[in-house]
Amino acid sequence: MLLHTIAEVRAKIKEWKKEGLTVGLVPTMGALHKGHLSLIKKSVEKCDKTVVSVFVNPIQFCPGEDYEKYPRTLDADRKLAEDAGVDIVFAPTPTEMYGEGHIMSNDFLTYVIPPFFYVNKLCGKSRVGHFDGVCTVVNKLFNIVQPDYAFFGEKDRQQLIIIKKMVKDLSIPIEIVPCPIVREDDGLAMSSRNKYLTPEQRKEALVLKNILFNIKTCYNSGIKDVEALTETAYSFLESCHSLEYLEFRDKNDLELKKVADSDTIVFIAVKIGEVRLIDNISLDN
Ligand code: AMP
Repeated sequence: MLLHTIAEVRAKIKEWKKEGLTVGLVPTMGALHKGHLSLIKKSVEKCDKTVVSVFVNPIQFCPGEDYEKYPRTLDADRKLAEDAGVDIVFAPTPTEMYGEGHIMSNDFLTYVIPPFFYVNKLCGKSRVGHFDGVCTVVNKLFNIVQPDYAFFGEKDRQQLIIIKKMVKDLSIPIEIVPCPIVREDDGLAMSSRNKYLTPEQRKEALVLKNILFNIKTCYNSGIKDVEALTETAYSFLESCHSLEYLEFRDKNDLELKKVADSDTIVFIAVKIGEVRLIDNISLDN
């Protein structure tokens, strides 16, 4: 069922909790694809009831980003979600979540700010305030749905690590379930933003997975020095790609690595034209 208000969701959750049913939450911004569906599938398998939120969260977009043009396909999302066994598709308006003026208004003033050390790097460096918006909306969704489990994709690995930290630090009684990256047949990580790519850019976008997969091959062949592994990436980059970052960091606390090991995640962000794409790979076999 499609619900738009917090009150409606709360009422339904209350009924389920009375019956002792477990609840899984899959937070999304919609434009659902197979990546989202893998999270949904896991929740449907693990929990008695599954709630998917579809909300393009204004407070996690920075000025000049794609908030206005972000793909909104609620009818299709609802059908995909319900066919996959979802019980509630929760699609609130920004006003429902944040009040009339929602940003910088007296209606909404309380933010959840994740630790600086986790956000002053990778995506947080260019998207200042992004993870404040993410943690705030995820907290709100946790409070509204009160799930037993919440499902997050490793596609957004920095987000996943920050959410896990927030849950631990604030003793939030929810188990975070990480879900592996789902890729297209040619290896491109699925993303709602892939829709922005022209056919030519779609081919160029393979540079991300080419770099990551090649680094993993080199690592497996015995190269552990991060500088040497980074060098291997440059042969894949062409003048039309602008590399935002290629970094080797610890999977738990995002510390930089000099020597790669099985706790290392390689993170990459590349701009293909105006489209910013991210991907990552774990060096753990
Ligand atoms: P989004 O709608 O982009 O905010 O994503 C909602 C959730 O789906 C996040 O936890 C993402 O990490 C996850 N997700 C998005 N794309 C993928 C993918 N290709 N594979 C696995 N999870 C994904």
